[in-house]
Amino acid sequence: MSTTSTTTTPVSILGLGLMGTALASALIKAGHPTTVWNRTAAKTGPLAALGATPADTAGGAIEASPLVIVCLTTNDNVRTLLAPETAALAGRTLVNLTNGTPSQARELASWAEAHGIAYIDGGIMAVPQMIATPGAYILYSGTDENAFETHRPTLQALADTKWVGKDPGAAALYDLSLLTGMYGMVMGVVQAYALIGTGGVPAREFAPLLREWVNAMTDGLVPGMAEALDSGQHLTDVSSLEINQAALPNFLAAYAEAGVSDELFKPLQGLLDRSITAGHSADGLSRLATLLKQS
Ligand code: NDP
Repeated sequence: MSTTSTTTTPVSILGLGLMGTALASALIKAGHPTTVWNRTAAKTGPLAALGATPADTAGGAIEASPLVIVCLTTNDNVRTLLAPETAALAGRTLVNLTNGTPSQARELASWAEAHGIAYIDGGIMAVPQMIATPGAYILYSGTDENAFETHRPTLQALADTKWVGKDPGAAALYDLSLLTGMYGMVMGVVQAYALIGTGGVPAREFAPLLREWVNAMTDGLVPGMAEALDSGQHLTDVSSLEINQAALPNFLAAYAEAGVSDELFKPLQGLLDRSITAGHSADGLSRLATLLKQS
């Protein structure tokens, strides 16, 4: 089978949820002959109207293109869907953009290799509305870097491409680490709105202050913490663990006074207490990352 990648490489997409539909639309708009399949067939309609070719079966979609992209809810779904399709997939490149863990990606890569399928795992750093717009990117990893390079120009139609290495689990590791940073920040924003709301302050009024503050903090904190972690120098002249441990009870007490749950923030108390007991009172918050590692 030819693996030549041109701007019109045929592509098949399995899974037309919110994300799969955005991916397929981007490929159609970029001029790729695009074959689409979805468990619930009705979702192929709008894409067919844009020029996609609907396939009746997953196997039929796979056979239509050298590059097959799958984007389902979970990797369990991917395994179940693709297990009977190894013959059709052999000799093709399978790009799995389903969210999952590093070990799931490695297992799928081993399964694919055993069946002569070039497997690339991916992590989408975008919401569907960001696909094919500046700022969106997708992380990729896998043992067959040549297959990735062959199809990189096509994948570039979805979002910027970031190759993160030959360990098939690397894309998922980067993806989950980045999403962890995002969820931590989002939960802080959620708690801040819950607390300020108890004072009758409209969220819209508070939003500019919160945005400016969070941006200012993350701008300095993210690179500063990286320096501390990579150098092993956690001593700080910014904000010690001792002062953070002393302040946290004020947050928890204020939540209680205001009738706001402390379920998101209470676990911090144990971690801060542990850092002091271990003798790290003069260190900065970067020390906590080392305490979270259990092996
Ligand atoms: P949706 O819920 O919109 O779509 C899920 C898709 O999976 C549908 O096509 C659904 O088919 C299909 N599916 C579920 N179970 C099965 C199954 N057993 N067999 C076959 N197909 C199945 O989710 P999204 O499109 O939003 O997300 C898809 C993936 O992309 C997820 O892993 C998600 O984490 C990831 N992602 C999503 C982002 C987002 O912002 N939406 C951002 C980054 C990553 P059917 O239509 O028949 O139900």
